[in-house]
Amino acid sequence: MCIFCKIVNREIPSNLVKEDENFLAFHDINPKAPVHVLVIPKAHYDSFNDTPGDVIGKMGIFMQEVAKEIGIDQSGYRIISNIGDDGAQEVKHLHFHILGGTHLKWGHLADADPKDFL
Ligand code: 5GP
Ligand code: ZN
Repeated sequence: MCIFCKIVNREIPSNLVKEDENFLAFHDINPKAPVHVLVIPKAHYDSFNDTPGDVIGKMGIFMQEVAKEIGIDQSGYRIISNIGDDGAQEVKHLHFHILGGTHLKWGHLADADPKDFL
């Protein structure tokens, strides 16, 4: 079972932000911005590539709600999904990164130093 499925099953703890019947939002363990929340479906899909459109649509609505509830919907934010090898996807369970809480620079990728965002 993958690490995010274990988070869904409460086998691994997470710092939860929001949950509904289909999705989970929790703080990234290694934040790359002042706000760095991961959003996952409770069902396992390997990546965005493998996920049905209706799930992506519902996930989009859920992410809009998350952004509002954590108070970054007006200040702005960035949504990223890394896909496959060239996308540098580490965890092979679909997830979107929601990054915000500061004025993000364009071009910051996974290897960036968090201080570079400030
Ligand atoms: P990827 O590179 O696959 O798009 O991103 C995976 C993300 O998951 C990384 O930002 C990493 O910090 C985060 N992550 C990996 N393992 C855990 C974990 O056990 N708990 C939490 N909260 N985040 C994790
Ligand atoms: Zn999984």
